[in-house]
Amino acid sequence: MLFMLDNEISPLEREEQERVEILKRYKALLRSIRHELTHEQKKLIRSAFDLALDAHKDMRRKTGEPYIYHPIAVARIAAQEIGLGTTSIVCALIHDVVEDSNYTTEDINRRFGPKIAKIVAGLTKIQEVYDHTDSMQAENFRKMLLTLSDDVRVILVKLCDRLHNMRTLESMSRKNQLKIASETLFLYAPLAHRLGLYAIKSELEDLSIKYTQREAFKEISANLNAKKAARDRFIKKFIEPIKEKLDEANLKYEIKGRPKSIYSILKKMNHQGIPFDQVYDLFAIRIITDSTPEKEKSDCWTAYSIITDIYKPNPGRTRDWITTPKSNGYESLHSTVMSNDGKWVEVQIRSKRMDEIAEKGYAAHWKYKNSKDGIESDQGTGVDSWLSRIKDILENPSANALEFMDDFKLQLIHEEIFVFTPEGDLKKLPQGASTLDFAFEIHTQVGSKCIGAKVNNKLVPISHKLSNGDQVEILTSEKQHPREEWLQFVVTGKAIARIRNSLREEKREVADTGREMLKKKFHKEKVEFTEDNIAKVVAALKVQSVLDLCYAVAKNLIPQEKLAIHDIVNKKISAEPKPKKEPSEKPISKSSKEIIIGDENDLPYSFAKCCNPIPGDDIFGFITIGEGVKVHRTNCPNAVSLLSNYGYRVIKTEWKNSPVKADKMFLAGIKLIGIDDVGIVSSLSDIISKNMGVNMKSITIESHDGTFEGTIVLFIQDTTHLDTLIQNIKLKHQNMEVSRIAIAN
Ligand code: MN
Repeated sequence: MLFMLDNEISPLEREEQERVEILKRYKALLRSIRHELTHEQKKLIRSAFDLALDAHKDMRRKTGEPYIYHPIAVARIAAQEIGLGTTSIVCALIHDVVEDSNYTTEDINRRFGPKIAKIVAGLTKIQEVYDHTDSMQAENFRKMLLTLSDDVRVILVKLCDRLHNMRTLESMSRKNQLKIASETLFLYAPLAHRLGLYAIKSELEDLSIKYTQREAFKEISANLNAKKAARDRFIKKFIEPIKEKLDEANLKYEIKGRPKSIYSILKKMNHQGIPFDQVYDLFAIRIITDSTPEKEKSDCWTAYSIITDIYKPNPGRTRDWITTPKSNGYESLHSTVMSNDGKWVEVQIRSKRMDEIAEKGYAAHWKYKNSKDGIESDQGTGVDSWLSRIKDILENPSANALEFMDDFKLQLIHEEIFVFTPEGDLKKLPQGASTLDFAFEIHTQVGSKCIGAKVNNKLVPISHKLSNGDQVEILTSEKQHPREEWLQFVVTGKAIARIRNSLREEKREVADTGREMLKKKFHKEKVEFTEDNIAKVVAALKVQSVLDLCYAVAKNLIPQEKLAIHDIVNKKISAEPKPKKEPSEKPISKSSKEIIIGDENDLPYSFAKCCNPIPGDDIFGFITIGEGVKVHRTNCPNAVSLLSNYGYRVIKTEWKNSPVKADKMFLAGIKLIGIDDVGIVSSLSDIISKNMGVNMKSITIESHDGTFEGTIVLFIQDTTHLDTLIQNIKLKHQNMEVSRIAIAN
């Protein structure tokens, strides 16, 4: 035989092959370091490599590869993709050493000094305390960042570690894939975003949905691939006239046409409820000018004016983040213009420096500071203010963990708007923010007393939504206080938390009065005022808590005849029996099992109402208290938060392989949008009921202005069955949009 198969290689030969491969990867790492290495630095990196090699010598990754591939890869991400310096590269190489071998932090200290030892100790601590527990909750995550952000490199190396683990997630168990991917989407991607590491954030998001929303991911990537040639042709045609004019203007530049991330396309599809074909901005054109620092801004605007001479811009979609950078440091000029084919195209214009910082974060700054050592000698410049901004958020004592995560999320979900105080101070708020958000942004007291505002000198109510560039003067009154309905007007985590706090406070005060009133009532009816007796009243009147009872008493919400303390306590009036739950809520009996939970065959379970899984859907089980296992779809709107906050309650769940018995049907909903037509209902029911024999539970069609929107709830066997049905409808009605929806029942 000419070639030997892998398993026929002798152990010695394999060891030799791996040794060669390890050295090859190490050399590639050295080549990827972008700053000139001194002799000392070279020695330090080599020493870290040798230590890691020894510490992990007998270990293998889940893929079967030598473990050392992992730290080398993490170090390479740090060097190449973030542009970090020697200290970080050394730390990345030895980040798992203390955790996985007999070496101690003391050993690291002796060999590399206190700075590196401290960072490695931080990384070890994250692993011990957080990675090995079943799930990292938002509160833990904040604590972790808070205690470890003494040195931002701990967080940066941790991000590199997570990125490499996500890139190699394929070999993990399904349960761990879901847990790690959700946690990444929930915690690490927003963190990367906050740190301005756009490329890493984007990759983390795409990798996450690759595992949590496998079908959607496959569909979008297949679609993107199928249309690549057409897209390239379009981009080429689109940029031709731009190039010509930019050359005439003697501008030095580079043009890239890049597809949007799969995650952002999916988000758009879900958000707007549209299929892939209708996502118009699948790619963005980026023009990167090669400018001297003084000419950056004017070059970008020159390019902008050239482009908008050729293509008409959408006036509402021009964003100048050069004059006012985003809070994570992002600088760029964005515009959406109309191409000759009638398609909107997003154009991003920025200098080379801005582009590097946008892609690689503040660490890319060093390159522009004439530093030899990367981030290490960059203290006092970008990295420092970057770190201190992160610390600010973390240390804000009034912010609880969830608010902190909300703050992260708001930045993801909403674009920012910029508004001004009467003095001309700039405030950043998420899009959709109201005058009330702005008031709370200024001060809790200003928010609590807000009665309205003058926006650009015009009087507006507290619910008024602010726009970019508004100048806002808040009007207050001493008599004002936060109300329940205010919660509908605010979007910032800060305002929501402050209003809730104040309402709770107020309720407690009212309840205190109520408690006194209740006490008198007890006395009058000669009943002892004990916690036990109060609890009996709470139960009999079916209020949530003692607080609620006292509050209701104070507000006179309970009719006097019902508040018969003596009779209640002496059981003459008993609590009404609780209404029985609907039978469908009950865990399914053992006989009609269609799924396997964990390795067990007979755990009680039921299907979650929020996403109504049907056979063929990607699913996971969530252990509830008292209701057995709830089965959700992995793309359920609640999945990310369940998986990342309560990973320990997640249990691997699969459909049974054998086809589901024909008599067992599942409810599924579809949404239809199309042109209105008299025969539409009968045509639909022909396809569904007559041709396919599918039973409908309900059908609603609403028409307005010549279009209609319909919802049909069906009894269906599985995803294949549903897909066929959707295909059949689309065949008959070419212009109709048909998509699956979650049904609320
Ligand atoms: Mn690691």
